[in-house]
Amino acid sequence: MLLTLSTTHSPATDLGYLLHKSPHKPQSFDVSFGLAHVFYPEATEQRCTAALLLEVDPVALVRDRQKSSGEGRSLEQYVNDRPYVASSFLSVALSRVFGAALSGRSRERPELAARPLPLTARLSVLPCRGGEVFLRRLFEPLGYTVTATRHALDATVPEWGDSRYFTVTLDATLPLGELLSHLYVLVPVLDDDKHYWVMEDEIDKLLRHGEGWLASHPEREVITRRYLRHQRSLAREAMARLSEGDEAPEPEDAPSAPDDGEVMLERKVSLDEQRREAVLSALVEHGATSVVDVGCGEGKLLRTLLQERRFTRITGMDVSVRALEIASERLKLERLPDLQRQRIQLLHGSLLYRDARLTGYDAATVVEVVEHLDPPRLAAFERVLFEWARPGVVVLTTPNAEYNVRFEGLASGGFRHKDHRFEWTRAQFESWARGRAERFGYGVRFVPVGAVDAEVGSPTQMAVFSR
Ligand code: SAH
Repeated sequence: MLLTLSTTHSPATDLGYLLHKSPHKPQSFDVSFGLAHVFYPEATEQRCTAALLLEVDPVALVRDRQKSSGEGRSLEQYVNDRPYVASSFLSVALSRVFGAALSGRSRERPELAARPLPLTARLSVLPCRGGEVFLRRLFEPLGYTVTATRHALDATVPEWGDSRYFTVTLDATLPLGELLSHLYVLVPVLDDDKHYWVMEDEIDKLLRHGEGWLASHPEREVITRRYLRHQRSLAREAMARLSEGDEAPEPEDAPSAPDDGEVMLERKVSLDEQRREAVLSALVEHGATSVVDVGCGEGKLLRTLLQERRFTRITGMDVSVRALEIASERLKLERLPDLQRQRIQLLHGSLLYRDARLTGYDAATVVEVVEHLDPPRLAAFERVLFEWARPGVVVLTTPNAEYNVRFEGLASGGFRHKDHRFEWTRAQFESWARGRAERFGYGVRFVPVGAVDAEVGSPTQMAVFSR
């Protein structure tokens, strides 16, 4: 997937300041579904082009398609266009890699970020459901000159006719942030597919990136409906907010805990609380007094542990600095009296690397974390936890995928949270857990968490490993 952004503004190399990426240094970024590479094929005073090349990991995609289509294993899940075409993966990459530019900010060139510039965006392969007519109806009202070349389904078999793929060039004079916002919203609309399940926070994203142009766009209804993947209730709410001129929250103001979507979905059963209770009981049962909570997130379990005097040494560890900052605030670590303060610490680290700081605990808790790890990395995590950290007890929870059919509004085969890399059935989880127990010399037992449904089991599954 290739997007290039060019300008003839003078000096054209200012594009590097606007994108916060130096024209002289190719860079690569990890974007969960693969790698995003940024480099400049040309960078002169007269003309500068930045290229965003997305290398989508096809193995991860096969897995995701398999889960999200819910149709069993069709060939389409293995052979599909996702690695090659512009899609919602591009939108995710734009916000991760060009986040400041997308929201119209620039550290070094703030006035330039607000100014209309001569810009050209070129999408090497853009799937357009609705064809060239629809493509033009989306971009021309925004002031673009659209050049589109349609690709044949197979150049060697002309009788098969055209594909829905176009090479598209968009020319306009406008602020860079506006162009990026148009791409952010309209590329997935043209593709009319989404690689992750649409949650309500998608409305906020749509309104935020559609600010200033979507409300007056002649195609706003189709854009809204397609962006929200044909979920009528979401689309209705978005249209209502668009016509009210509702102020969408700024990214910084919108509290976006890593597990927001999941929390919303599971609220009905207050599963979050039941999970903490279940974990706490397992720890108490095993007489643990020192606990390391790996992937502690915003520290909800840590708070529960802190309230129990039996736990004399509590450690939270997470890879996300932001989550740790929130945990520190929520636990009011700064204001704890000395004696309390000595019981708890937060560590920044990854579960994928051997870490001496994780050793010497009675117990480790791993609550709703494994499903965030890429399956090829599970093996590293297993060794870090069971072989090197080697606590007496490991309490581990993960969603039970079978239960998902009981969540209203969760698309069939979809995951509870868009950052989940997989969700296990009971059989899959138990087979994984027994395998690890045997390999690393632990016993294991399974505890359902949340109301058990006769057919599909409990919403959360928990394994308690002990030596
Ligand atoms: N245990 C918490 C958070 C669950 S969300 C709770 O139940 O509320 C998953 C957490 O795992 C996130 O905070 C994420 O940052 C963390 N995580 C994901 N990959 C990780 C890794 N490799 N190492 C450490 N933490 C990781």
